[in-house]
Amino acid sequence: MSGSPNDPIYIRDGYRCAYQVPGVCSGRADGADHRIHGDRSDRRPSNLISACGSGTTGCHGWKEAHPAAAGAWGWTVSRHGDRDTSRVPAHLDHPVYGQGWYALDDEGGISRLHAAPGGGGLLDSEGREYAWPRWEGQ
Ligand SMILES: [Zn+2]
Repeated sequence: MSGSPNDPIYIRDGYRCAYQVPGVCSGRADGADHRIHGDRSDRRPSNLISACGSGTTGCHGWKEAHPAAAGAWGWTVSRHGDRDTSRVPAHLDHPVYGQGWYALDDEGGISRLHAAPGGGGLLDSEGREYAWPRWEGQ
């Protein structure tokens, strides 16, 4: 297991699939899934999420088959919009921190977000605001 380029992502996500789609998820971290499609060399930690399955199976496959839902959850980020994935929240299920909205940074960190009063967006613990993810096409 050591030496995989996915290790920092698996450590951050607790060594299991972070999507946890009900009735679909095997729980395993089979790979580090790219949020922005089309550039597999983009290995910024904020662009990668531990996922079970492949492009056609498990949560990874579910994500590919449901692009609008995946965009609304922040699992897929358009390659045509703002590509700073550290600023796009993702709805994840983390084994330690639980299910909810998270910001992923490019140092391998993960931060729980909370809804801002009035529903305007999401806030981190330091009060920085994040816009809700929107599906804008791949
Ligand atoms: Zn899964």
